[in-house]
Amino acid sequence: MTDCLFCKIVNGDIPADIVYQDDDVLAFRDISPQAPTHMLLIPKRHISTPNDLTEADVVTLGKLHLKASELAKEAGHGEQGYRTVMNCNSDGGQTVFHIHMHLLGGRALSWPPG
Ligand code: 5GP
Ligand code: ZN
Repeated sequence: MTDCLFCKIVNGDIPADIVYQDDDVLAFRDISPQAPTHMLLIPKRHISTPNDLTEADVVTLGKLHLKASELAKEAGHGEQGYRTVMNCNSDGGQTVFHIHMHLLGGRALSWPPG
């Protein structure tokens, strides 16, 4: 999608601090980190919200989870722990409409979230 911020990052039209990519997945640092480690993992293919996921996205979603755990462990958060979260629409707090998994680590995160 030409007017999607994260598609522009995928295409290299907007710079980002990229930490990992393969054919399906891109991971980069959040521009406004809410924890010492705050990365976003996205499918390279545009999907607007979690409501738009289909059976065809199951493998890519699994890759997001697997890569998030690898990046968290690489950052040293495996033992202390970390959080992955995907927000959906307004009540979920989604502000960028290309699905993304937040990976947050490096501090104790409260629960329930606000
Ligand atoms: P959401 O609120 O949709 O779950 O999360 C969107 C995230 O994208 C926010 O944490 C926000 O800081 C991040 N973000 C917004 N614009 C940019 C950008 O241009 N570059 C990067 N790296 N992150 C962004
Ligand atoms: Zn997009």
